[in-house]
Amino acid sequence: MVEKSIRAARILEYGKPLSLVSVPKPRICRDEEVIVRVGAVGLCHSDLHLLNGEWKSIIPLDLPKTPGHEIAGWVEEIGKSVPTNLLTPGDLVAIFGGWGCGICFYCKQGNEQMCESAKWPGLSSYDGGFAEYILVPSFRFLVKVQDTSILPEKIAPLTDAGLTPYRAIKKVRHHLGPGKSIGIIGVGGLGSYGVQYAKLFGAGSKVVALDRSDKKLELAQRCGADHVINLSSGESIKEKIMNITSNKGMDVILDTVGAESTITDAIRMIGKGGTIVLVGLMGNMGKIPVAPFVINEVKMFGSLWGNFNELKEVIDLQVQGKIISNIRNFKLDYINEAIEMLKNGTIVGRGVIVP
Ligand code: NAD
Ligand code: ZN
Ligand code: ZN
Repeated sequence: MVEKSIRAARILEYGKPLSLVSVPKPRICRDEEVIVRVGAVGLCHSDLHLLNGEWKSIIPLDLPKTPGHEIAGWVEEIGKSVPTNLLTPGDLVAIFGGWGCGICFYCKQGNEQMCESAKWPGLSSYDGGFAEYILVPSFRFLVKVQDTSILPEKIAPLTDAGLTPYRAIKKVRHHLGPGKSIGIIGVGGLGSYGVQYAKLFGAGSKVVALDRSDKKLELAQRCGADHVINLSSGESIKEKIMNITSNKGMDVILDTVGAESTITDAIRMIGKGGTIVLVGLMGNMGKIPVAPFVINEVKMFGSLWGNFNELKEVIDLQVQGKIISNIRNFKLDYINEAIEMLKNGTIVGRGVIVP
């Protein structure tokens, strides 16, 4: 049989541009597997961390590897045991990225993204989505999108940029309501959805978006932010926050940057009994001023990606038109240009690669 080949953008060496190469088209080897024709893949800042080699000790990969973990497309081929009442070739699907073992404690909790031996696409032994086709190890990781009028480029970013802030804000929504406030630090891929969830689940809370780019803050306003603050303006952030919150400080802060400076800013802005949720991974360490942290009973925790059911909920919000995906498309040939733009902060919203 002649082996068919497909195009893929691969990491050959850390710190170098991706290489556009031909690789064999994936083939079904196990009965549960599904091959998806990639319709769109979001370009996540995590891809930059990975490409730069920042994560090579925590996520060791055998190179070459095809990255890309925010994927949507159409079912191309299914293995023998895939229930055809669930999936058939031609279906529009979102690929859930937490490819868990299904039997460990975290998988049994429903949090397969936290699996003890998680195999994330493009971040494990499996290749990711910066290619024309991808092999998905089980039909269990696919969400069928019933509304086929939605383009895959609007679905792909939901699998991470739309999912991660959703899970994070769901964890703190009971702290929100009239007279309360929530700050979203970083209005990039994740933050642009974060602002929308803050409005949706904030139940009347004031939503404050913070970034160092005015263009991103304009996007935050379009996403419904009540106030925007440029963190690089040199003005006193604390004073601004105190004015907005009637001297209480913020009730909730979602930090989608996770740099040392934003963690310091978050602790400066948080009010008594406030909660900081950290999802950004830009920094290595954060400093916590012990006395104010203790005296103000500040809570702080991390949040990882989202689970399968949460992805279904996020897709449902998109189908209902309750959230908007702010995207900019790039052809696969221009993936390295898109990566440069993400690095320079010139993509407003989510960059999406369309093979
Ligand atoms: P992005 O590049 O699309 O957006 C980052 C935004 O933060 C930009 O608007 C940028 O202007 C702003 N920013 C950067 N540094 C800043 C600073 N010091 N002060 C103020 N604003 C600043 O990135 P993204 O794809 O949204 O990802 C954000 C982070 O979240 C990355 O570190 C990524 O690895 C991480 N991430 C975490 C999870 C998780 O499960 N916890 C999931 C996806 C991504
Ligand atoms: Zn990601
Ligand atoms: Zn598991």
